[in-house]
Amino acid sequence: MAAEQPTEQLTPDFEPTDSMRMVQETARNFAEKEIRPTVMKFDESMEFPREIVNKLGALGFMGAIFPEEYGGAGLGYLEYVGIIEEISRVDPSVGLTIAAHNSLCSNHIFTFGNESQKRKYLPDLTTARKIGAWALTEPSSGSDAGGMLTTAVKDGNSYILNGSKNFITHGSVGKTTVVMAVSKKELGKKGISAFIVENDTPGFTVVKKENKLGVRCCDTAAIAAGAAMVPLLFGGFLPVLVELWPTTMSSVAMAMAGGEAPHLPTILSWAVVVIGLGVAGLAIFQREDM
Ligand SMILES: Cc1cc2nc3c(=O)[nH]c(=O)nc-3n(C[C@H](O)[C@H](O)[C@H](O)COP(=O)(O)OP(=O)(O)OC[C@H]3O[C@@H](n4cnc5c(N)ncnc54)[C@H](O)[C@@H]3O)c2cc1C
Repeated sequence: MAAEQPTEQLTPDFEPTDSMRMVQETARNFAEKEIRPTVMKFDESMEFPREIVNKLGALGFMGAIFPEEYGGAGLGYLEYVGIIEEISRVDPSVGLTIAAHNSLCSNHIFTFGNESQKRKYLPDLTTARKIGAWALTEPSSGSDAGGMLTTAVKDGNSYILNGSKNFITHGSVGKTTVVMAVSKKELGKKGISAFIVENDTPGFTVVKKENKLGVRCCDTAAIAAGAAMVPLLFGGFLPVLVELWPTTMSSVAMAMAGGEAPHLPTILSWAVVVIGLGVAGLAIFQREDM
């Protein structure tokens, strides 16, 4: 006789906690009251909505996933993605700002920075006193990030950074930017490292703010470093992809979907898809390195 088949559900099935519901409701109310009235104004002008972002900082949403000791709100990822869902339902530009700021810039520093870097940079980022950016893409390397040309040459305790970066979220409004550059050319793609750049560092410039078709008030810009002296954040890039990609892909995908997913299980399904894509990208990266 054939064994009875398990009737396991393949879709995520769980009840949101009270905390998730409360955070999501706060985000929904904020989006309706503070963002909706000026959506078209900011879309048409492409002006970065700094006052709205300040208020998001006061709510803890710009440091949602970081511990309170660094100024963060100490929320979980489900609360975080719930915030982005509600904000992006009203304005995906603002959702993308929250996602890029939290998941890329701040999370890179939180996950790979040493304790003094975390204490120095995170409190300003988690409270939105400073906006964070994260610069990987270059004019000649997008999907093929390993083909980047930006270089970092060691000079005492600092590095001299030279190169150009394209399509950087918060490129022109950011005050702290994590920049990827080749620090050990002989190691190929394994010789890529991350550097923390304070945007007023001499030699670091905004080249051009992009005029986009969508997510227009989420600032996107080309930036350049010409002999900018910067500190090392972390040597190596593969661990960064492993750690940062899943959260980045899930939060950015939610923002770009315009918060279309109607409830948390659907958000999880999105997260699974984008995590899969990230892992596929990682596999390509590693295979080419062998
Ligand atoms: C709004 C916005 C915000 C952004 N923010 C940031 C940011 O904050 N930081 C940052 O570093 N970058 C950022 N980017 C850049 C983004 O990461 C790149 O656009 C992306 O990596 C793709 O690179 P690319 O545009 O050069 O396209 P390409 O790499 O040239 O790809 C073009 C097309 O070819 C396809 N393709 C590429 N390679 C292959 C392959 N081997 N096989 C099959 N198909 C392939 C791609 O899927 C794509 O459809 C942003 C882009 C946008 C639009």
